[in-house]
Amino acid sequence: MDQQTLIFLGPQGSGKGTQSKIFEDTLKRIDPLREVVHFEMGKNLRELANKESYTGKLLSEVIYQGELVPFNISSCVFSNHLVEHLTSDCHLIIDGFPRSEEQMPVVDTTMAFYKRVQVTVLYIDIPDEEGVERLLKRARSDDTEKNIRKRLAWTREEWGKILARFDANPIYKVVEINGVQSVEEVHREILSKLGLS
Ligand code: AMP
Repeated sequence: MDQQTLIFLGPQGSGKGTQSKIFEDTLKRIDPLREVVHFEMGKNLRELANKESYTGKLLSEVIYQGELVPFNISSCVFSNHLVEHLTSDCHLIIDGFPRSEEQMPVVDTTMAFYKRVQVTVLYIDIPDEEGVERLLKRARSDDTEKNIRKRLAWTREEWGKILARFDANPIYKVVEINGVQSVEEVHREILSKLGLS
């Protein structure tokens, strides 16, 4: 199969983390000889936040509040991971970056530098109501419905800008996925839209 470069996008509660992990397993099964590099921004940031350091302490406060960590940290974590792990023929899965429009130039320059000229952007969409319901179920006690709605409204506007930037650049192919289905159904829709089923 061709080398895959995939970016999983979607609002909080869309299930993109779960889907990117299942997709990684499928990719390893279909193409066992090729390495898969899977970058998970949330996981990497949490690891950094758990370190006994001044940066770790400050980061854990930001993550606990549900805010985005500053741009210098997110782009540094992303770039470092690729510097350490990327090889010329590996598949690459990115989960959780970009999450704001200001992160887009980092994605663009990264793809250009690593010569990834065909990038699939999987946007797993769910309506706000579904997102609120899912987030309330897994929310911390201080995470009120009002806060969740405020966050989702902000991210929806930001997703619009991010998707418009992807649409405007021919190296990216945006594929929309209906996130309001069972985990298995979402996975099947991804495989079918990528021509892998
Ligand atoms: P997640 O596991 O994807 O829900 O991410 C956990 C937390 O990490 C988020 O609530 C943010 O605080 C932070 N985070 C994840 N991705 C990004 C990003 N691209 N830019 C800034 N902060 C992020």
